[in-house]
Amino acid sequence: MNHVFHRNARASYPVAAKGDGVYILDSEGKRYLDASGGAAVSCLGHSETRVTDAIKRQLDEIPFAHTGFFSNDPMEALADHLIARAPGDLDRVYFVSGGSEAIEAALKMARQYFMEIGQPERHKIIARRQSYHGNTLGALAVGGNEWRREQFKPLLIDTSHVSPCFAYRDRRDDESEEAYGQRVADELDAAIREHGPETVAAFVCEPVVGATLGAVPAVPGYLKRIREICDEHGVLLIFDEVMCGMGRTGYLYACEEDGAAPDLLTIAKGLGAGYQPIGATLVSSKIFDAIHDGSGFFQHGHTYMGHPAACAGALAVQKVIEEDNLLENVRAMGAKLKAALEERFGNHHHVGDIRGRGLFLGVELVEDRASKKCFDPARKVHAKVKAKAMELGLMCYPMGGTIDGRVGDHVLLAPPFIIDENHIEEIVGKLGEAIDEAV
Ligand code: PLP
Repeated sequence: MNHVFHRNARASYPVAAKGDGVYILDSEGKRYLDASGGAAVSCLGHSETRVTDAIKRQLDEIPFAHTGFFSNDPMEALADHLIARAPGDLDRVYFVSGGSEAIEAALKMARQYFMEIGQPERHKIIARRQSYHGNTLGALAVGGNEWRREQFKPLLIDTSHVSPCFAYRDRRDDESEEAYGQRVADELDAAIREHGPETVAAFVCEPVVGATLGAVPAVPGYLKRIREICDEHGVLLIFDEVMCGMGRTGYLYACEEDGAAPDLLTIAKGLGAGYQPIGATLVSSKIFDAIHDGSGFFQHGHTYMGHPAACAGALAVQKVIEEDNLLENVRAMGAKLKAALEERFGNHHHVGDIRGRGLFLGVELVEDRASKKCFDPARKVHAKVKAKAMELGLMCYPMGGTIDGRVGDHVLLAPPFIIDENHIEEIVGKLGEAIDEAV
């Protein structure tokens, strides 16, 4: 037990031994309520037999057949399921094994699209500060989390970043939410004009920002304005719903609530709910047609794309969500969890903001509620919250604040869609204890 290179090289972790609904049991038998779905992954909890049975059945039929040679039934059925419910004119699904791969595929597809239609000078990608799109080099390049990017910068393609839509910190007191949304969206318009629209391929953003800001939704109208700006300049729009998609906000695709549809949409975590590694890039018909009618071949691919067991698992996950009306539960329990957080922390001196949609909620911790001053990052408040919560048997997802003070330490909550009111009571009680001790 001493040869695994863990993500934290100095930490020693409990060993996960068994799943029981929304709980994980470690090898000592201690129970942890999974209030973050790991990182917004485990939307069905940890023991859904309708999913594990579907995976076992598929393994008995055909465990793997390379997609350079064969299609397979679960992959075709999953693509049909996703497209039947997808926004806008998304019409094709490119399967991969996780979120970063989905972003890489979207970026390369955007670039190849412009090659196919005879606009080879379009290659630039614009993204947003304080965003996260994955840890592979392309995804890291478009991501705007400086802490993750800093030491790898010499390896990253040049990307420019505009402001995120973060009303809690950036909306002026004299501005309505709508006016703020228009102002911040117009930064994209200015950036595209500055680069020269004929050089810009795509803009990428998370409709609800996950890991870097802690469940921050766009204000009403922002994403629609972004869509208009992209259309005006012929720039492709990529929505990264790896974390916020697949029902997490109470809508299968988070952008549905904003009434805006992208040209490319990435999904992963909740797609397979952690039962198998899987991600996907949904592609609009105009992009697919350009490649189909042009070179006929997308110059990309991974060995495990469209893996039959992963697709069978994800299809079973999506069917359970529909059969059990879980999006309704996400909306109902999300409202209850938010109300319980507001009751517990609404006047807390060190809680600046409680935000999010559905079962995708964030709590921002600050040194001072009135001034919104962040804690000194050296205090590592988020790490203390995580450690205390784990001691109490609660998994939540705390992240550090930024050095420039643009976002404080925060805790992300993304529990399974199957939680009930007793779980909410346990989450808020234990989280309150952990925060009180850490701040
Ligand atoms: N995009 C977003 C919005 C994410 O939150 C993440 C992971 O947290 C990724 C992409 C990368 O996904 P993965 O870790 O599966 O590569």
